[in-house]
Amino acid sequence: MRPTQPPTGERLVIVGNGMAGHRLVETLLARPERPAKITVIGAETAPAYNRILLSPLLAGEMERDALTLRNAEWYAEQGIELVLGERVETIDRAARRLTTDAGRRLGYDRLVLATGSNPARPPVPGLELPGVHVFRDLNDADALTRAAETGRNAVVIGGGLLGLEAAEGLRKRGQGQRGMQVSLLQRDDRLMNRQLDLTAARLLESELRSRGLDVRTGAQLECLEDGSDGRVCAVHLADGTRLPADCVVVAIGIVPNAELGRIAGLEVNRGVVVDEWLTTSDPAIHALGECCEHRGRTYGLVEPIWRQVEVLADRLCRPATERIAGYVEAPSATKLKVSGVSLYAFGPTEPEADHEVLSYRDPQQGDYRRLLLRNGRIEGAVFYGDTAAGPWYFEQALAGTDLSACRQALLLGAADAQALLDDAATDSPTSPVKEAA
Ligand SMILES: Cc1cc2nc3c(=O)[nH]c(=O)nc-3n(C[C@H](O)[C@H](O)[C@H](O)COP(=O)(O)OP(=O)(O)OC[C@H]3O[C@@H](n4cnc5c(N)ncnc54)[C@H](O)[C@@H]3O)c2cc1C
Repeated sequence: MRPTQPPTGERLVIVGNGMAGHRLVETLLARPERPAKITVIGAETAPAYNRILLSPLLAGEMERDALTLRNAEWYAEQGIELVLGERVETIDRAARRLTTDAGRRLGYDRLVLATGSNPARPPVPGLELPGVHVFRDLNDADALTRAAETGRNAVVIGGGLLGLEAAEGLRKRGQGQRGMQVSLLQRDDRLMNRQLDLTAARLLESELRSRGLDVRTGAQLECLEDGSDGRVCAVHLADGTRLPADCVVVAIGIVPNAELGRIAGLEVNRGVVVDEWLTTSDPAIHALGECCEHRGRTYGLVEPIWRQVEVLADRLCRPATERIAGYVEAPSATKLKVSGVSLYAFGPTEPEADHEVLSYRDPQQGDYRRLLLRNGRIEGAVFYGDTAAGPWYFEQALAGTDLSACRQALLLGAADAQALLDDAATDSPTSPVKEAA
């Protein structure tokens, strides 16, 4: 029998009031068996907000308030202690006590690390100069907004999801002011090389160029130049190109923020190592979100993190002796949040020898679809333009559905393909409909 009363006196402390930490709070509150006392400590001064929406915020498509997930009053009403603007610096595992940079000391029975990640920085001279930014939190979005409104030239380093959203955001923000010129540097031969095949990447590139973005693929960064005022003034590429820049954004990827776990002596590889119940090498300490590492994998999208939250909430609410399902990896799909560009992709970008490739392209409508199939089952897809059916294909891929029966309609969209699948199921000699007929 599951207990219905909160275990008395159990104190849970969550480090990090970001997307994972906050989602865990909401999930625990929905369960009667939740820990009796919950404290959340966040280094940022703002209560949890939707980090994903920093991109539309930068682009001027959303107001700041719309990002807030819950305000401090809500936490107080739920009886949750919320400490903001303090960074946890040390964990004394033997005493089960942590200390913040403000000197606050706090005991815990269970601790959750949800400290997210830090932007990766390439080892390039000049990266420490004023005028060089990252794009991770509200302060960064504010700084970039100011730069777009006052600067002339920006260079964004990194042609992945984040770099593209930062570049488009700066370009849109800069419009109508002095008209900021934005260059986007991508080391690979194509944008979003982890998600897109060459055709979709070229379509994206030409759309962004038509908007005025200076997209440079195959760009090798050499160094950043400081101006007479000590601020960054240009970016140099290995081919000798000099791009003037009063604002540089580094968006080449993320590194799990596992420092606290490392200091505490937990097992840390790239992230804080956890098992399938999100437990670290110390049974009283858990980790989830971008700071953790599970079976060698680290995270950068919220979808797997939401599934981690469910597992950890179970783990925190049920007795250790009760069997609960652990966290398992599953593929994720990617969407780009650049208004006017619809893009949906999952699975491998390049076909393997035994993949079948089905593709469809309508240059007039700007539509492109490409499916990678193995034995009639979808393993990867790229949709550019009309992406409405993308989630249906992703569902079929996750379910491992044999789509041979609807092959001729596969590229026409979900409704046609599903109709043929339904027909095939009805006609099948083993189908219940057939048997009843
Ligand atoms: C601009 C942008 C756009 C994105 N768009 C998408 C998208 O479209 N789709 C998608 O799936 N994902 C997107 N992501 C990624 C998504 O936001 C992250 O996967 C998610 O926020 C991870 O949640 P987290 O709680 O692990 O980390 P975070 O949300 O970063 O939260 C970690 C929190 O812990 C705090 N912290 C760190 N160390 C300490 C400490 N020692 N003491 C106290 N507090 C500490 C940090 O200040 C931070 O507030 C985007 C990210 C960015 C930056």
